[in-house]
Amino acid sequence: MFETVIGLEVHVQLNTKTKLFCSCPTSFAEHQNSNTCPTCLALPGALPVVNKEATIKAMRLGYAINANVNHISNFDRKSYFYPDSPSAYQITQLHKAIVQKGEIFIDLKDGTQKRIGLTQAHLEADAGKNIHDDSISKVDLNRAGTPLLEIVSEPDMRSADEAVAYLKKLHSTVRYLDISDANMQEGSFRCDVNVSIRPKGQKEFGTRVEIKNINSFKFVASAIAYEVQRQTEAYEDGIYNDEVFQETRLFDVDKGVTKSMRGKEEAADYRYFPDPDLRPLVVTNEMIEKAKDMPELPDAKIKRYVEELGIKRADALVICLTKESAYYFEDMLKSGATPKSAVNWLNTELLGRLNKAGYNITSSPVSAKKLGELVSKIDNGTINGKGAKDILDVLMESDRDIDELIKELGLAQVSDDGAILEIIDSILEKNQDKVAEYKAGKEKLFGFFVGQTMKASRGSANPKKVNELLRERLM
Ligand code: ADP
Ligand code: MG
Ligand code: ZN
Repeated sequence: MFETVIGLEVHVQLNTKTKLFCSCPTSFAEHQNSNTCPTCLALPGALPVVNKEATIKAMRLGYAINANVNHISNFDRKSYFYPDSPSAYQITQLHKAIVQKGEIFIDLKDGTQKRIGLTQAHLEADAGKNIHDDSISKVDLNRAGTPLLEIVSEPDMRSADEAVAYLKKLHSTVRYLDISDANMQEGSFRCDVNVSIRPKGQKEFGTRVEIKNINSFKFVASAIAYEVQRQTEAYEDGIYNDEVFQETRLFDVDKGVTKSMRGKEEAADYRYFPDPDLRPLVVTNEMIEKAKDMPELPDAKIKRYVEELGIKRADALVICLTKESAYYFEDMLKSGATPKSAVNWLNTELLGRLNKAGYNITSSPVSAKKLGELVSKIDNGTINGKGAKDILDVLMESDRDIDELIKELGLAQVSDDGAILEIIDSILEKNQDKVAEYKAGKEKLFGFFVGQTMKASRGSANPKKVNELLRERLM
């Protein structure tokens, strides 16, 4: 029996206005090499200046994950040659990163929680892009110098499920913090997966293989599954030491396999040394204050929803997974929905309809305010659940006034005692034999009377009222 060991490195592109060491915009540029200057082109004599906004955003992540945020950190040069990096080195933080020793908690499928340690999060500059066109290759340096935050986990994960849970939590956290768009398809949230196996009970780690740049949660899971199988088979066949060595592999999405890309460089190959152009990065009190100014994060929200709003933890997890759905939920409460109905109508009724129609919560044709208003009308007895579903169907198609729809569709619930009693009395009159049986102890019949009354009112009677009045009448 083997145990899987996984550690993840995530590159998050920080959503700053300008690059990490110059004032070139990070925004999309129509023309290749137009968002460039002597610094990001690495022309001789141009000096880097550290971007304050990027620094604050890195610090904000640090405070969010309970890490040490270093008031003094250092930049190092990582030397390598590649056409998309004109300086032939990357400026990064190896020896003393701005963020060290954090933690993230993940929820496992069995309902328990697990702590995943973070080694560090460091600032570094992105490279440009090589574009290969038939027989020629071009270099576009618009992206060169864009700020990245590389977030390195400890080898604390033991399965693909845990790795994906960690990634989702980290993804949602950087989105709540608004430090990155974290768009996996567009490459602003990129993930390298380190995988090894070891016989159960063995203390030492096995040899790790690094799988580079995976761009979806699903592919992370498939790449790990493949790699675990490859390593396990090698072990069982007695060729582990020949087949599994420290290397960089790529995941082939079409075939579902990982393939060797290159031998893994040792740190020494990169000739890391402190960047002589950059003084130590010293943060000010003003920066600390700005970094600590952050919204309520998923863990705190989940706790509050469970403890103060009385929501099930499983439901709170679903709602808080993205800030968009958490804010949607909170806006529903602001327009009068009670928490429990809001959860139900958001997670089941709305999400179901959105999925079916190809929308998501951000593009929902029904606003949180509207759905909150609709739900509050169920909560206060104006309409019943069935009527509300009909109204929601209409709202998915066009933004209509709810009160108007209630009138138009004849969905107003009858809560008036007199009107309901009239119906109840006629039902009891017609079913005198059953009334006698009920009074003789056949209590199950109560449901029958409720059903008959609801039916006679064509669903418009307030079920709570019907129950109350029936009990009175049958005393
Ligand atoms: P590099 O930049 O060379 O990839 P890092 O130190 O930045 O090295 O990253 C190492 C990553 O590999 C970390 O996420 C760490 O948790 C993970 N890791 C280290 N040893 C193992 C192992 N035996 N199995 C799986 N993952 C590992
Ligand atoms: Mg790595
Ligand atoms: Zn520049």
